[in-house]
This record gives sequence, C-alpha cells and structure tokens, in this order.
Amino acid sequence: MAAADLRPFAICYNNAMSPLVLFNTLSRSKEEFVPSDPALVRMYCCGPTVYNYAHIGNLRTYIFEDLLHRILLLNGYNVKHVMNITDVGHMTSDGDAGEDKMAKAAEREQKSPWELARFYEDAFFHDCARLNIIRPDVAPRATEHVAQMITLIQQLEEKGYTYETPEGIYFDTAKDEDYGKLAGLNLAGQREGAREDVNVDTNKRHPADFILWFTNKPTHIMKWDSPWGTGYPGWHIECSAMSMEYLGETLDIHCGGIDHIPVHNTNEIAQSECATDHVFARYWVHGAFLTVGGGAVTGRTADKMAKDDIGKMSKSGNNFLTVQKLIDDGFDPLAYRYLCLMAHYRSELTYSPESLGAATTALSKVWELKARQDGGKNDGLSDAEYAEARALVIAALNDDLNLPRAVAALQGAKSYRLWLEFDSVLGLDIEKRSREAEPKPGAVDLPEEVAALMSERDAARSARNYAASDTLRAQIEALGYTVMDSPGGTIVQKNLL
Ligand SMILES: [Zn+2]
Repeated sequence: MAAADLRPFAICYNNAMSPLVLFNTLSRSKEEFVPSDPALVRMYCCGPTVYNYAHIGNLRTYIFEDLLHRILLLNGYNVKHVMNITDVGHMTSDGDAGEDKMAKAAEREQKSPWELARFYEDAFFHDCARLNIIRPDVAPRATEHVAQMITLIQQLEEKGYTYETPEGIYFDTAKDEDYGKLAGLNLAGQREGAREDVNVDTNKRHPADFILWFTNKPTHIMKWDSPWGTGYPGWHIECSAMSMEYLGETLDIHCGGIDHIPVHNTNEIAQSECATDHVFARYWVHGAFLTVGGGAVTGRTADKMAKDDIGKMSKSGNNFLTVQKLIDDGFDPLAYRYLCLMAHYRSELTYSPESLGAATTALSKVWELKARQDGGKNDGLSDAEYAEARALVIAALNDDLNLPRAVAALQGAKSYRLWLEFDSVLGLDIEKRSREAEPKPGAVDLPEEVAALMSERDAARSARNYAASDTLRAQIEALGYTVMDSPGGTIVQKNLL
C-alpha cells in the first residue's frame, strides 16, 4: 500500500469546533494553537537516525506526531510536515562524545554507511506504513543537505557565535543569552560529563557548548569539504538547516521526544535563533516515553538493549521490540497503535504483551459493533445524540490531543458510524479490518462442537498458550475445517471436499 493512500480526508468542522489547544513546552502551559499563516501549518519533527530498526518506543513518538498531524487536518488546516533522516553526525551520546552511530553500525554490519542508511530508512518507512503513520511531505536526508548546514554555520561564524578547537567548530553558548530556555536549564549548574559522555572535549570553553562541524576524524567515511577543513556536520545543525530549507525560518510546531529537550532541541533553538534573529519554533510539543518492564525506552536505551549486535537482537528478540517482532508474536501492528491511543502523549505508557492483548480485544469490540449495527447503518442514535457524541470526541481531540478521553467518548456512544467517522484521526483502518473479521461464507451455521473449539482456541491465544492453541487448531481441522486467524479471533471455513 502506498503511504499516500493513508492520507485521511481533511474534514473541516471549524465553525462548530472547540479550538485546538496544545501544551507548549516553551511556556509549560496549554495554549490555543494559532498558525502564523492560516493557510499552512509548518510542522517539523526530529526524525530517526537510520542505523538500526526503530524500536516501538521510538515509534510511539511518531504515532503521537501523526495524531497531531491528523488532528490539524481535522481542524481544516493544510499541513506541511517535514521530518529529517539523520544519516550522519549523530554520536553515540546525544552530545558530541563517542562515535558516529552510522559509522559504528556500518562496521558492525560490514556495509557502507550509505547502504546501511538506505536499508534502515526503508525499514523505518515500512514500519510507519504498517502503523498507518502518514508519510511526511518531505523527509530530507542530512547527507544531501550539507551545503545548507555549512551556510548556517558560516552565518553563526560571521556573527561571532563560534570558535574552533582541534575537534572542530563549536557553538559558544555563553554568547546566547537565551540558551537553555526550552528546558529551563541553568548553565552555571551544568557539569561536564553529567550525562553519559565519556570522551569530553577538554578544549570546550563551556560544558554546554556543542559541535557544529567535526574536523577531527580524518578516517570518518562520510566527509565533506568545508571552510574549516574536511569533516562532517554535528547532529543538531542538521535539524536547523533542513527545517529552514523546507519550512522557512520560523516553524509553527516542532515535535520530538522529551529526551530531546535538554540537549538536541535546546541546541537547535540556540543556533537557529542566533543565526536568524527570529523565533525558531512557536509551539514545542513533546511526547513521553514508552516503558517496558519498568524501564524507559528511548533511542538510547534501545541501543543498550540491542547490545550493538543485530544478529543477537533478532535471534533473542525479546528485549528489542520492533513492529516485526509484534507481528511475529501474532499481533496486529494497529493494535499497538490503538494501545498508544490509550495513554495521553505526555504520559508514560507501559508496554506489555498483556496490555497489547487488551488493546486487541478492545479493537475487536469495535468490529463487532459493525455486525451488530447492520453494517454500521443502524446505531440507534438520533441526529441530536450523534451530534452530541461527535462534539465530545472533537472536544477531547482538540484538548491537547486527549485521545484517551476521545476513545472513552467513542466507546460510550457505541456507534460504529462514529468510530468510522473519526478513523481519519485514529488511523485504525476500521472499515478494512472489520471486513476482514467478518465470518467467511461457509462459516455460518457452525456445529456447536466447532464453535466451542473456536472459542476455546481464542481463549488459549489470549492467554498466549500457543501449544494449546495449536492442539485446538488440529482438532478443528480434523472436523473438516480450515482454520484462519483474524484480528477478531479464530475464523473457520468448511472444506468443500
Ligand atoms: Zn532534531
């Protein structure tokens, strides 16, 4: 399925709608969203560093950004959504220390960094499509925008914001009065190496200073000529240069995970605003972590989980959770999307197979509604009741993307029609999936014995007792039926011969 097919209809309810309100990390409060240009919302999201598969913790952030994108469309806005692809310059710490993630992974996998980057970029978009994440309008690669980064660094240099060390060109945070405003950082209180940096550059003037251009790694495979010598860009400058290239000097919305607030997004603001003298982004919207087994899963944690060993990771498979792993375990990727709707994007969400199982069950209840409501045509709601339920859902969505409240309103209304209407935001493929879950011809008028075995098998699968499920499958097959799995549970078809 082409990603473009996922684009929902833009439905404009603007007249009757409660205004869209977003929590802005900059002001630490909810603010009504007003784009600077009513004709176009300029939205930028920090994209993946394509050196590995995306973990479901990373993907939770992209799902939240997708929900925001879809809610903007629901509000009648045109949206230009840009998300970078980092294929160079992201070090193993989010600061400047360690090795380049791409170079390290390329060595591990015996591929060129370019091959590796394309492979994981494709894998990333494949996972996004399986989660019904609308593809951004532009997904620029860092390696294809080095000229823009060099120009931006030159602007900073001309204005006196940079200095040079044997490592490369640094941004001088002491020259930026506003440095740290996003995170409420106190520069004086920051200690060198307070995070996990092990190779701190002793030539830095201040611990918070960050690199714009590396010149110290002559063996680095991905390198470009620059006014400061052959080298490669730092991670932070990539987002500033590419967002400005496609969206101009001021963005309406900049999104990311909360782990990006203190370093990456803070540095993006510093270098962008010092270069242009304009506000870089008007609304900063950040998503919270996914936790698995009590630990937060960020890109960095996922690195540790992978133990830098893709082979081991895909074999053991239990600790590095990818979309493919969920599918291999018998889950529908859209059940994971549904699970993400169950927690507000600013709250931590805990993943477990049980929570995903519960999401699967909740989804199948939506499909059952269709069958019970005459294909969705008869939900028993009067026009006024329908309008009231719809207003509740919209109010929840526009209240800082309160998906849990919207889903509760949808569940309360018990209307398949309403679920379907809001699938433009939910992105659950409700119509398609419910069709797949419909009983196939030949499965009607089942003998009681077969029906009983089917529900036993569904119970076994819910309990993840696959041995019992396989035994029950064999028993049903012995009675002359073909057994299939669907998101709604076991379905069977009578064999014709
Ligand atoms: Zn970024």
